[in-house]
Order: sequence, then structure tokens, then C-alpha cells
Amino acid sequence: MIGGSETEPLTNSMDREKSHGPKDHLIQLVRDLRHYVAYQKSLGAEFLPGSPRKLPHHHTLAELRKELGECTRCKLHLTRRHIVFGEGSERAKLVFVGEAPGEDEDRQGRPFVGKAGQLLTRIINAIDLRREEVYITNIIKCRPPHNRNPQRAEIATCEPFLKKQLEIIQPRIICALGTFAAQTLLETDEKISHLRGRFHVYGGFKVMPTYHPAFLLRNPHRKREVWEDMKKIQGEYIT
Ligand code: SF4
Repeated sequence: MIGGSETEPLTNSMDREKSHGPKDHLIQLVRDLRHYVAYQKSLGAEFLPGSPRKLPHHHTLAELRKELGECTRCKLHLTRRHIVFGEGSERAKLVFVGEAPGEDEDRQGRPFVGKAGQLLTRIINAIDLRREEVYITNIIKCRPPHNRNPQRAEIATCEPFLKKQLEIIQPRIICALGTFAAQTLLETDEKISHLRGRFHVYGGFKVMPTYHPAFLLRNPHRKREVWEDMKKIQGEYIT
């Protein structure tokens, strides 16, 4: 993992050797960067997170998808079968954001197509919408091995694409599905049971966190709470 101690070798080496002019300083900087990368590799890091500010401006989701390409920006590309970019309407007023693709999604390259996805479709239909009218995506676009939680560096590398998707779509409401999506979007450690049931703000968008459909399949008695959340979304949607 890339953690708080990652700057240690850089600082040490800079202390050891003082630079004298701009050229010396540059040479030292390159040396330090080499040490830094070697140090990260020694800790097991295979890829360093990309910068969120480097994405150029895109007008359409198709342009953004092209920019993503056959992405190798984080190590999840090594184990995925397909990138699951997202699908639905580019003009959606409502966007659903889950955690990451699962096995079915990884196989088909489409979001929420397994049993949890079928339940999500029924939830969408229950508020008088069709899947084609909303947009469905995830925080990260490639399946983590064995469905483990995405790691901090993977999120940092992939989330700029979600932000761009939202920038292009400009939805009125985002529904964050499950603990991980809600906590990541809202940058909080609060439990989903505390976050759900009311609107929050993410990047100027209204966010309603609710339970993930996969959680509902295991805990059907929680459906009433999701229905309450969805009615609030519907109320906001039609105003
Ligand atoms: S998870 Fe995102 S950043 Fe990582 S390889 Fe997949 S598309 Fe690229």
C-alpha cells in the first residue's frame, strides 16, 4: 500500500546530499524519484496513482470512454476481463453509483447485470423509470480480484473518470449504492445506516445513499428503508 511513510526515502536522501545549482538540483531530484519508485516497489506497490487533474476536457461520454481506453492506470487491469464504464442516458437526471463490478459485470462489461443488478432494475422500475432513462456506473471500473474492497490507490486513480462522467451528465440526483460508494463519495467513515434517508452533497450534486441491492438480497427486511429512500429520490426527481 502507498501509505503515510512514502516520502521518507525522498527526505532522507535530500538531507544526505545538498544540491548546489539548478542542474545539480534537477539531477538530485531524478535520483530521488528513482529511489522513491524503487522504495514503493519494495513495499509491494506496482503502480502509482495518477493525477486527477490531468484529464483533458470532454464533452461526451463516448469521448471520455475513448480517453479511458484499455486502461492500465492501476493494477486491477491485470485481473479484469472487461472494463465496466457504465451505461444509460447521457442526459440522466438520476445516476446510480455502486462500488465496483462483480463477476457477472466483469464477464459482460456492463454494470449491475447479476442478481443484484436485476433487483436494481426492479427498484428503478418501482419509481416509474426505466434503466435507459438513468445512468448506472461504479466508483471504479474494473473488478477487484475475489470482489475484495477497492484500495485507496485504485480509487484515487479511477475516481477522476467518475467525476468526469458526472460532469458530462450533470444529474440532479446521485444514488450511492452501499457503504463503500457512499463513504467514498462523501469522504466519510459514517455507517450507511446513518447516511441513508437524507440528501447529502457531492461536487454540487444531491446524493442519496441507500443500501446496496446485494445487501438487500441477503437482508430482505431492509427493503422498506430502501423504498423510503427511493420515494425521496422520486420526489426530488419530479420537482
Ligand atoms: S480500475 Fe480504473 S484506473 Fe484501474 S485499470 Fe480499471 S479503469 Fe483503469
